[in-house]
Amino acid sequence: MNFQQLAEKYGTPLYIYDGDQIAKNYKRFVNNFKVKKLKVHYACKALSNLSVLKLFKHLGAGLDCVSLNEVRLGLAAGFEPQEIIFTPNNVGEDEYEAAVKLGVLVNVDNLHMLEYLGMNFPDQPLCIRLNPHIMAGGNSKISVGHVGSKFGISIHQFPLVKRIINRLKINVEGLHIHTGSEIVDPEIYLRVADIIFAIAEDLPTLKYIDFGSGFKVKYKKEGFETDLEALGKLFSERFNSFCEERGKDLTLRFEPGKYMVSNAGSFLVKVNVVKQTTACTFVGINAGFNHLIRPMFYDAYHRIKNVSNPKGNKKIYTVVGYICETDTFGVDRILPEVRVNDLLIFKNAGAYCFTMASNYNFRERPAEVLVLNGKDYLISKRETFEDLTRNFVDPALEL
Ligand SMILES: *Cc1c(COP(=O)(O)O)cnc(C)c1O
Repeated sequence: MNFQQLAEKYGTPLYIYDGDQIAKNYKRFVNNFKVKKLKVHYACKALSNLSVLKLFKHLGAGLDCVSLNEVRLGLAAGFEPQEIIFTPNNVGEDEYEAAVKLGVLVNVDNLHMLEYLGMNFPDQPLCIRLNPHIMAGGNSKISVGHVGSKFGISIHQFPLVKRIINRLKINVEGLHIHTGSEIVDPEIYLRVADIIFAIAEDLPTLKYIDFGSGFKVKYKKEGFETDLEALGKLFSERFNSFCEERGKDLTLRFEPGKYMVSNAGSFLVKVNVVKQTTACTFVGINAGFNHLIRPMFYDAYHRIKNVSNPKGNKKIYTVVGYICETDTFGVDRILPEVRVNDLLIFKNAGAYCFTMASNYNFRERPAEVLVLNGKDYLISKRETFEDLTRNFVDPALEL
């Protein structure tokens, strides 16, 4: 089915995911790492639809979850608890306790929680999230491993970590580092690996090392992406030689989100208005930053295509949303002539698009469709006014 037909069948705005592309991404990722034991945990905050999670389960992935609800969703999708790693930041004791009880892998992000879990759940194996103090990543919002970052326990505090571990006899089964998003240079991963290996050396209970994510994908045709082939080769060699030299039998874990789903998603919208002003020609679409916030939040670039008039004469447009606030998707984009009711798509709309959507301006979130082996499936319904008002309570106010 083409975009036109999907628009007729499901309406717009609409998120469309190509399941075959997701499978391709997963397989490409996995095949690049030649190690004895590998588990790739899909970071489901990128795109957390139940059917997408089921697809990942089918492919053999594990899951990376940052909230208890993501954990619950992963279990509902059929993941075994031990395939799920819970990597939250600044959540309370209650949320950690619940995760322990659900039997998932638990990744500890601060010293207080390490002590707390060690005292209260003495038999619980734990993973420790370290902050390597490396500045890497696409922008300051998504670079999470640097010295001023709120994530993880500083590697310089490791003497203190060891003291707590020894005193409470904590079974540290994992070490974790997530340096940031959008890292292009394989060298960064190797530097991080050396830092972690130095710490891993004297942890006899260690079973796995989780190197997080940060794999960059191309948003522009001419853009950069992480050279996964080069990285996989260099990294696997380094990992294997560490395990051999130290006599360790470790599982290598990664947690890619964006890499798995970004290029599999398209956001399909309709043109409401074409408006010429003294400054430019605006294309006003039937969506806004309530549906796709990455351009406004991260200055992210999403390619835009006119799928209704691909052969039209090229013109310059500024594509904007319908939110009552400035929500610009793209400035001075060259597109085939855009007419009212044309369909446009945003490329790379698989990761951090639907999951960051909101109901701002009291608008419903779009529907989502998964296309797999030539079949299209509705995987979440378009919200309705009733959905938006469901949780309102209307008590008898004494006015
Ligand atoms: C967000 C996140 C990821 C995924 O990052 P991507 O850039 O989408 O691959 C992995 N691990 C943790 C802990 C995260 O918070």
